[in-house]
Amino acid sequence: MPIYEYSCEECGNTFEKLVFAGDKEKITCPCCKSEKVKKMVSSVSFMGGSSIGKCASGAPSGFS
Ligand SMILES: [Zn+2]
Repeated sequence: MPIYEYSCEECGNTFEKLVFAGDKEKITCPCCKSEKVKKMVSSVSFMGGSSIGKCASGAPSGFS
């Protein structure tokens, strides 16, 4: 199964998501629900660290 890694441009969070062929589902950041996410290419080797994503759980939704 194809698992792609995405990076959120809003909070910098990175997350993985299963994407099926023809899937038109919008990819949103699980942290801040932003749709400004970029698909990271060949980031597998980038992983291996212990800390992925710097978005604290329960990110403020109305931060101004
Ligand atoms: Zn985010």
